[in-house]
Amino acid sequence: MAFVPNHCYVAKNTILSMQKSLLKINEPDYEQCLADLFNGHAAAASPSCIVQPRTNAELQQAIRWCFEEDRKICIRGGGHSKQAAVDGAVMLDLSKHLHQVTLLDDGVHVKVQGGCNMGQLLRVLKESKRMVPVGTHPTPGFGLLCMGGIGHIGRSHGLTIDHICELRGWRSNGEPFLLHADKEDGNAWQMMRGAAIFLGIIGEATLKTSTRQPLQVKRTRDPLDRLWWWIQTAESLPKSWSCSLILGTPPDQNTAAVLAMAVSTMSDDSTTETTDLPHQWMANVNGQEELPNFNLPLQNGESEPEQSMTTSRYERLKTRNYSLSIPKGHGKELSDRLTMLMHQRPNQHCRIDLQHIGGAIGEIPIEETAYTGRGCEWSLVICGVSPPGCSQDDTDQANQWADQAFDLLRPMAQHCYIVERHPDSPIYQEQLKLAYGPLLEPLKQLKHQWDPYNRLALLETQ
Ligand SMILES: Cc1cc2nc3c(=O)[nH]c(=O)nc-3n(C[C@H](O)[C@H](O)[C@H](O)COP(=O)(O)OP(=O)(O)OC[C@H]3O[C@@H](n4cnc5c(N)ncnc54)[C@H](O)[C@@H]3O)c2cc1C
Repeated sequence: MAFVPNHCYVAKNTILSMQKSLLKINEPDYEQCLADLFNGHAAAASPSCIVQPRTNAELQQAIRWCFEEDRKICIRGGGHSKQAAVDGAVMLDLSKHLHQVTLLDDGVHVKVQGGCNMGQLLRVLKESKRMVPVGTHPTPGFGLLCMGGIGHIGRSHGLTIDHICELRGWRSNGEPFLLHADKEDGNAWQMMRGAAIFLGIIGEATLKTSTRQPLQVKRTRDPLDRLWWWIQTAESLPKSWSCSLILGTPPDQNTAAVLAMAVSTMSDDSTTETTDLPHQWMANVNGQEELPNFNLPLQNGESEPEQSMTTSRYERLKTRNYSLSIPKGHGKELSDRLTMLMHQRPNQHCRIDLQHIGGAIGEIPIEETAYTGRGCEWSLVICGVSPPGCSQDDTDQANQWADQAFDLLRPMAQHCYIVERHPDSPIYQEQLKLAYGPLLEPLKQLKHQWDPYNRLALLETQ
C-alpha cells in the first residue's frame, strides 16, 4: 500500500490534477453516485463535489486538499448512514475504487480497503474457506467494521472490531497513521476500534479470520404476544446460539408480528449444540452470506421480492434510527414496552430489531476497545420509517415515534451503539455519554489531537 509521505507538498491545484476522480454538481455520475446511496437522507444531499480516489495516494491528496482549503468532508463507505453525503461538503467516495480484499500469504489475515462492504469481504473469504463475523446485511461498510459490527454469529465469534489487528489511514490533515495491538500509541488503538469515525479516515484494515463454519438457522414468525416468551428463551440459550428478533409488520398482513431468527455455527462434523427451539423453517447454510434475509418474511417463509429504488434520489424511504443496548433480565417490562410501541407505530414500515448480543462479545475486556456495550444481551435498533412520497405530517409522526421509543427504552439501556448519529438533536450529548461513558472525555482529548478542526464526525451538538 503506497502511503504518500508526510512531507509531500500538496499544490493548491491538487484537486484539478484528479479530474478523472472528481464528480461535479449536476454531472450524471454525481447524480448516480448519490442515487446509489442506501440512506435516503444522504441520497437527497448536495455535496459541493464528489471525489472518488483511485489510489491511497489520491485519497491522501484529497484529504490534504480539503484540510488546506478548509473544506468540510464526508466519507462514503457503505453509504448506510445519513452522514455519507452532507450538503456543501466534499464527499470522499471510497466505495468506487478502494474496495480491494486481499488474503495474506499466511492464509489467516485479510487486508481490506476502506471502501469495501461486508458482502464483498465475505465473498473473497468464502473462496479461501475463511470467515469473520459481520452484520446481518451485506452492504454496510467501514462505518460498521470500525464502530462495532453486530451480527448473527457475534455471540460465538465476537464483534467485527474484535478481529481487527492493524489499521492504516490518515488524520483529517492528511497525516498518516499506523496502529496495531503491539505498538505503543497511547489510547488510539483502543479508540479507533469503536470510535474511528470521530478521529480519522481508515484506508486499510487488517483482520484475523477463522476457519469458515457452516451455520444452522431456525426461523419462526409469531404473533406479537409471543414476544416475552422469545426474549426469555433467547436469554437462556448457550453462546453457540443467537436468537435475534424483529418486531414489525409482515408484508402480507396488517398486524404486528415477531420474527425469531436463531443461528448457530456447526462444527466440522456438521453437529451443533442442540436446542429444542421451536421453528417453522430450518436450514443449514455454508456461511453468513447464505443466511435468509433478516426481514419479516411472508407467511410461507419466503422474502418479499426486493423493491427497486424510485428514480428520484429525493423521494426515497427515510429513517430515524436509534440503537440502545440492554442487559439481560428486563424480559416482561421490555416486552410490555416494546409491545406498546408496536401498537402505537404510525405506519406499517416502522420496526424494532432486537439483535442478540452477549456471549463472546461480553468476554472481551471492556477496556480493549471503545465499544462499551459488552455487558448487554440485546442491541435494539429502533427504526422510525417515512416511506417514499409521504407527507411532512407522516414524517413527523414516524420521527416522533422513534424519539418516544428512545425515551421509553432509555431507562433500561446501558449503552448506545452510535452508528446512527443525530448531531443536530438535543439528545446527541446523551447518546454520546451512553455510547462511551467514562471514555468520552479521553475520546474528546484524542479528537482534539487528531482532528482539532472538527472536520470529521462531531463529538458536540451541531
Ligand atoms: C439495512 C441496515 C442494516 C444494518 N445492519 C447492521 C448490523 O447487522 N450490524 C451492525 O453492527 N450495524 C448494522 N447497521 C448499522 C451500520 O453499521 C451503520 O449504518 C454504519 O454507519 C454503516 O456504515 P457504512 O460504511 O455503510 O455507512 P457510511 O454512511 O458510508 O459511513 C458511516 C460512517 O462511517 C464513516 N466511515 C465510512 N468509511 C470510513 C472509513 N474508511 N474511515 C473512517 N470513517 C469511515 C463515515 O464518515 C460515516 O460517518 C445496519 C444499517 C442498515 C441501514
